[in-house]
Amino acid sequence: MIWAMIEMTIKCPECDAPVHVDGPYRKVFCRTCQSDIEFPEEVWGDLLEDIRDEIVEFEPGEGTSSTIFGHFNMTMTYGKLTPYCSKCKRDFNIEEDYNGTDKITCPDCGTVKPAFAAPEWFRKAIKGAVLIAGAWPEMKEVEENKAVSDPVAFSCPQCGGSLMIDGKERLVRCEYCETRVYLPDDLWLRLHPAKKKTRWFVGFGNIPSSSTDLTV
Ligand SMILES: [Zn+2]
Ligand SMILES: [Zn+2]
Ligand SMILES: [Zn+2]
Repeated sequence: MIWAMIEMTIKCPECDAPVHVDGPYRKVFCRTCQSDIEFPEEVWGDLLEDIRDEIVEFEPGEGTSSTIFGHFNMTMTYGKLTPYCSKCKRDFNIEEDYNGTDKITCPDCGTVKPAFAAPEWFRKAIKGAVLIAGAWPEMKEVEENKAVSDPVAFSCPQCGGSLMIDGKERLVRCEYCETRVYLPDDLWLRLHPAKKKTRWFVGFGNIPSSSTDLTV
């Protein structure tokens, strides 16, 4: 199996904030403006089939970065790299160690990393894609991104009344004086901390030598 390491950040089409795409997701969530961004299957296909064809030619450990202006403005780093334990840096041997669950455990230090069979839409969009490692399946990712932190207290700038802010809406109405308050950046960022970008991996098996001899 050939592994592609991927780091991907798109510019939110709504607010221009950087949004990390940390797995094969058809919808990503911009925490800054709280909007859903559709990531079409065809865009995935175009991007990752190019990457697949490129990394086949790479030496192990070789990688590259690029800025792409297409469906999204995005920056990508990708390379030919086997998924590895983030703690002890040992390479995983996923073909042998993966047992059909949704995770893989480092035999040396016990660190757990997610790993799962590439979803059907992804396998259809990108020929040869078989396994995903280092990313969570779509549903779990969506839930986690939308999860809101514990409410925080905030004083109404108009009347000083104490408001409990849950982070669901940026524009809130003061329950005492009825003023509409647009929450300041620092509070908003505290409620929706920026995510750290994470590397994830696509395992390709059976890579077609050219797209003409593909069988689906
Ligand atoms: Zn946004
Ligand atoms: Zn380890
Ligand atoms: Zn008020």
